[in-house]
Amino acid sequence: MPKTKSASGAKVPKAPKAKSATAKSAKPVTKHTKLHYCDLSDCQGICCSDGAFLRPEEVRRVHKLVEKYPEHFAHLPVDYIIDEEWAHGVGKKTNVRKFRYRNKPEHFKHTKCVFAESDGKCSFQTLAIKQGVHKWKYKPMGCWLFPLESDEKGLVSPPRTRKDDPNNLGPEYPGFATYTPCGKHSEKGKVWWIALKEEVAAYKKACP
Ligand code: SF4
Repeated sequence: MPKTKSASGAKVPKAPKAKSATAKSAKPVTKHTKLHYCDLSDCQGICCSDGAFLRPEEVRRVHKLVEKYPEHFAHLPVDYIIDEEWAHGVGKKTNVRKFRYRNKPEHFKHTKCVFAESDGKCSFQTLAIKQGVHKWKYKPMGCWLFPLESDEKGLVSPPRTRKDDPNNLGPEYPGFATYTPCGKHSEKGKVWWIALKEEVAAYKKACP
């Protein structure tokens, strides 16, 4: 499912305090999503399988970048941004090309964002690294935030269960983040605001 973004302030829950052994009434313990870091050589960038929806300012920025650095983006087709309709609306998104994954959830397609390079790295990120600027300077926000999302109130914690996956549209499309290696809950992982502390910090800076 393409990654979308809209954002304002960031709200990151504090880690739950240890409970007193003498507490009189036990409130239900909130169970937080725990995550593992991704490994591109293993996941093959499955989170890029649908490309990314872009905000209007991102569309403008992408066009300028592609025009300014044609050699870096030589792998792109002419129609690198397309119009697409999906369950949550219509918008501009990065196009995809065919790509065969070793393993993928049944409902994911064998496709990959055209901005991914042959080794799976994002060409927005490789450009930023080449230039010595922040690695996410050119990357769409929905991409660097993933598996976090944001809404008008701020950050939205990653879903813990497939039932809570915001892209769970029913049996035909039962979710997105919870089917990716870095977005699915794992008891052995780190609680999400620790696992994603770089993303949380970058979000707070971008949307103070
Ligand atoms: S823009 Fe980059 S990170 Fe986002 S889907 Fe495309 S290749 Fe992946």
